Amino acid sequence: MIPPVMARYDAVIVGGGHNGLVHAAYLARAGRKVLVLERRHVLGGAAVTEEVVPGFKFSVCSYVVSLLRPEIIRELDLPRHGLEILPLDGTFTPMPNGDYLWRMNDHARTRREIARHSRLDAEAYDEYALAMVEMARFVKPILDMTPPDPWSLSPRALGRLAFLGRRFRGLADEDRYNQVQLMTMSAVDFLDQWFETDVLKATMSASGIIGTFLGVRSPGTAYVLLHHYMGEIDGAFRSWGLARGGTGAISNAIAAAAREAGVEIRTESPVAKILVRDNQVRGVVSSNGDEIETGYVASSVDPRLTFCRLLDEDLLPDSFMEGVGRYKFRGSSGKVNFALDGLPDFTCLPGTGHHLRGAISISPGVDYMERAYDEAKYGRFSSRPYIDIVIPSLTDPSVAPPGKHVMSCFVQYAPYHLADGSWDEQKERFGDTVVDTIAEHAPNFRNLILHRQVVTPLDLERTWGLSEGNIFQGELSLEQLFFLRPVPGWASYTTPIRGLVMCGSATHPGGGIMGAPGRNAALAVLKGTA
Ligand SMILES: Cc1cc2nc3c(=O)[nH]c(=O)nc-3n(C[C@H](O)[C@H](O)[C@H](O)COP(=O)(O)OP(=O)(O)OC[C@H]3O[C@@H](n4cnc5c(N)ncnc54)[C@H](O)[C@@H]3O)c2cc1C
Repeated sequence: MIPPVMARYDAVIVGGGHNGLVHAAYLARAGRKVLVLERRHVLGGAAVTEEVVPGFKFSVCSYVVSLLRPEIIRELDLPRHGLEILPLDGTFTPMPNGDYLWRMNDHARTRREIARHSRLDAEAYDEYALAMVEMARFVKPILDMTPPDPWSLSPRALGRLAFLGRRFRGLADEDRYNQVQLMTMSAVDFLDQWFETDVLKATMSASGIIGTFLGVRSPGTAYVLLHHYMGEIDGAFRSWGLARGGTGAISNAIAAAAREAGVEIRTESPVAKILVRDNQVRGVVSSNGDEIETGYVASSVDPRLTFCRLLDEDLLPDSFMEGVGRYKFRGSSGKVNFALDGLPDFTCLPGTGHHLRGAISISPGVDYMERAYDEAKYGRFSSRPYIDIVIPSLTDPSVAPPGKHVMSCFVQYAPYHLADGSWDEQKERFGDTVVDTIAEHAPNFRNLILHRQVVTPLDLERTWGLSEGNIFQGELSLEQLFFLRPVPGWASYTTPIRGLVMCGSATHPGGGIMGAPGRNAALAVLKGTA
């Protein structure tokens, strides 16, 4: 028998999603010999471009970028490695009464448009933006820090807590109230304090529910609004963009930077087991039985996969495994991607104008959004879901053949646990629901469809390794953020096993194409604090 291949690396990274790649790049730049093992044939995890139909490049999962930390772009010199972010212009919301709301990147036009619905709201819009920018400024440095353990008396943890306390005291009184309200209120209650226009509140509240199993009226969703506000492009908060070539171009640029720093990357190389002896990592075993020797493993996959599948559970303390067991996934979203023969024509604003170049939000009212959640609570996908539509081929023609388009539809709610039947049985009906919902606003839509790809929460679990289909490797709810993510007492990227570190979206500051978990974990390891 041929003996198993043995090789020695300073670090092995489980998963070639963007966080795993960021982590690898930072370690290699510090001189470590690093190997990334990715299960799929393609890098990027949920940040991936795939040519599902010849000529049409789908950003199959994540589709817009904003949260990617500017320091990662700079330090890894991602533009030189091919990253180009194109701005996404505004949000267009069709309404069933034949009207619409269209917020653009042009401030004066957006004000005029909101004033068409409510003069008061147009005034309040600027005040709201200022308040959110203050909140985002407060939170921004927290994104890049290792969360302190509030129960620890170590000087480092106390120092970090004191830093947070000083920042909080440094806020103006009003901003302090806003911060507490953001932490406790629902997105709609929070927005009610500023606005009166239903369609405006519905569309803005949508970013409070993404990746959660909560409704726009559920307490805690106001914070998720802020999470999505914190992204910046060229220093401007709340700007969203598209990566030229699709979202996978971001992962590919990071991979190129990592390779340049000396990282070895293998695709189609699933890790089957992390080897541990005397509570110290000794290596990994790939699914074909190869053993790779290393004293350090960084897992960029979620805690359920890491601690319940890749490790023998009896290696870990019971109290820790209870924390892992309590960590909530509860996937609530799906995706439907289309190859189109032309552009949808919306009844409320006919033609192929600029309104199709930004996000198109199917969120016509707060009750519509809440009703979509009601159905999910009882195990059904929404019969009229919230849909965030983007047509990237209008901004980046490289993703579709001339005259054709790709259209990406993020859909909520699609509960992982269905009351009746399985996702395999319901998949195409879910796709039909999305088509029917869009066709109510753009009747020509059905005739444009050349191909559709339906991605259910079960597909997210099976193909992308996202347990229960949660898009953020675990719900972005307050009780599992910051020093509570993924397990209270273990938020500093470390684990009870020496040499095993977590570096994916299940760690602080959570999901989204941010790279922050990968970078924070690497810096902590290099500084010797993880
Ligand atoms: C449908 C959807 C839409 C989204 N939309 C957006 C958006 O528009 N904007 C945004 O900012 N964020 C969005 N997100 C969230 C964002 O994409 C993720 O939070 C982020 O990409 C996660 O990156 P990661 O590197 O932490 O983990 P992942 O991307 O989950 O990477 C983990 C990698 O590990 C691999 N893996 C799993 N098991 C093994 C194993 N045993 N051995 C080796 N490899 C393994 C997986 O194949 C995967 O490549 C979306 C996510 C989804 C699913």
